[in-house]
Amino acid sequence: MADDYDVVVIGGGSTGTAVARDCAMRGLETLLLERDDIASATVGTCAGMISSGLKYMDEPEIVDMCSEEVVHFRRIARHLIMKNPILTPLMQMSDVSTGGNFAEEYSKRAETRDVPPVLFLTPEDALEIEPTLNPDIIASIYFEEYFISPFRLCLLQAIDAQRNGASVRTYCEVHDIENLDGDGNQVTFFDRVSRKTESVVVDCVVNATGPWADEVADMASANVEIRSNKGAHVILDRRVVNVGIIAKAVDGRMIYLFPHENTALLGTTALDTWEDPDKLVASSDEIEYLLKSMEWVVPSIREARIIRTMEGVRPLVADWKKPEDDVTRGYEILAHEDGAPGIFSFVGGKLVMCRHMAESVTDMVCEWLGVDKTCYTHMRPLPGMDGDLDVLALSKKYGVSQHMVERMRTRHGTETEQVLELADAHPEWKTTVCTCEPVMEAELRYSIQEEFPRSLNDLRRRVRLGTGPCQGTFCTYKASAILTKELDWSGIDYQLEIMDYLAERWKGKRPSLRGEQLSQEELMQGIYSCVGNIDQSDAEYQRKPWEGIC
Ligand SMILES: Cc1cc2nc3c(=O)[nH]c(=O)nc-3n(C[C@H](O)[C@H](O)[C@H](O)COP(=O)(O)OP(=O)(O)OC[C@H]3O[C@@H](n4cnc5c(N)ncnc54)[C@H](O)[C@@H]3O)c2cc1C
Repeated sequence: MADDYDVVVIGGGSTGTAVARDCAMRGLETLLLERDDIASATVGTCAGMISSGLKYMDEPEIVDMCSEEVVHFRRIARHLIMKNPILTPLMQMSDVSTGGNFAEEYSKRAETRDVPPVLFLTPEDALEIEPTLNPDIIASIYFEEYFISPFRLCLLQAIDAQRNGASVRTYCEVHDIENLDGDGNQVTFFDRVSRKTESVVVDCVVNATGPWADEVADMASANVEIRSNKGAHVILDRRVVNVGIIAKAVDGRMIYLFPHENTALLGTTALDTWEDPDKLVASSDEIEYLLKSMEWVVPSIREARIIRTMEGVRPLVADWKKPEDDVTRGYEILAHEDGAPGIFSFVGGKLVMCRHMAESVTDMVCEWLGVDKTCYTHMRPLPGMDGDLDVLALSKKYGVSQHMVERMRTRHGTETEQVLELADAHPEWKTTVCTCEPVMEAELRYSIQEEFPRSLNDLRRRVRLGTGPCQGTFCTYKASAILTKELDWSGIDYQLEIMDYLAERWKGKRPSLRGEQLSQEELMQGIYSCVGNIDQSDAEYQRKPWEGIC
């Protein structure tokens, strides 16, 4: 039987998109299948810290690998990366020795990663940098770490895979994998947009489905075990701190508070979980654990409003009878040679390792296929990384605020000029749709035309629409109208889209709402239903094809 593809990659998170890019760049006929949107699962809930891995100082090979990956990311995706200063306030003498070990390990790799060595600061110096710190600190460590936009990284990896010949299909859920006795594997999937079931025959399958890796392996009668570990974040409505803070939580684990765009990210918890990863909700205990712990070093933290929570499952290597912190953050690739030949599954790993993970599995796929091609994903820039951008000059040339152009630069890099060209051709698209971020109409249009979103939530992932303090209160209607026009939807689709978007936002907001904030939110829902007329309970319409099916 002739194969449709050399390899099918299942999962459009950081791992799957990196694998599809590597396979395509090595000339393999590649198909990426994602059941939802790119970066819609675990990777979309992570902090985006591409650190040197120093939390795992007892795994030096992982620390070295992460440090090296940071260097590669800075080469291929500098426009998506920020370097953030971080303070670790020390509250008691016993913290000092841990700080000393960290400083030594960090400083060894500082030059490679282009960061200054760790500094020990007096309380006065630390408080000058971060006046919100508890004045009782006895010292502070200062260091710098890199962060990457997880959504944009995955999207650009997927787009680069496409540009290298891969076929990328979102909203396609794999339902079955059948071994064809020496003739490859048949992968059957359901396209949630066209509502059609399709099958392809392939030589290799890469199972990059993170917390779902066991379920997907099971479709091929292969066995994968994961130690599922839940992590929750709380997002605050303002930049509570000037710099990142890493502190010890009530149980001695390290937690963080990072300023992020117009908000702040407080995280994270780490709990063994047997919950369905599709139905995760941050518990009140998790929220209180984070607030209580951070309150010791940033006493004013509760003055900020929680705008939502964000939770995901770390698909860790199944290393049992150990505290979560002691479980390796490395990854394994399981080649299911006996029962399911040609199928490779990932367990473990991190965002920062995704390129490395992809290189390893693509080497295995190439060996299986008898293809002799080397990896160059660490050398070739991602889209938008082919030079520097003069933000001021572009702002003047196109009459768009410098702030707006700068925000676009962090998403599109050198391709920002294409967005600005669109705005120039349609000056009415220079209006700001999302004022929190801000996002200009031309950028939304560009993203819809070039970055294959199918919903407002997909747009949120691509351009941060509705992620600021108002959580979409002011941009949802307008953005839905733009999406409806660009995708040629009907009026009913327009309203359904708003309902879906609000439902998704509500899911993240609800766990954190209490007291007056809860009643305000319910009032807002009422306004949407009555004034916005989205509560059409008697309307006879079909839901969008991919809703409520899988
Ligand atoms: C709270 C938290 C914070 C974290 N912070 C960091 C950090 O700062 N830095 C870092 O390096 N790492 C961090 N991590 C770890 C990191 O996020 C994960 O290791 C990584 O994102 C996993 O990516 P993935 O692509 O393997 O999985 P996912 O992002 O979960 O992608 C798997 C994809 O497979 C798809 N899928 C599942 N079943 C099917 C099917 N049948 N058909 C088609 N598609 C399917 C899913 O829809 C999903 O999109 C964090 C994790 C958590 C939970």
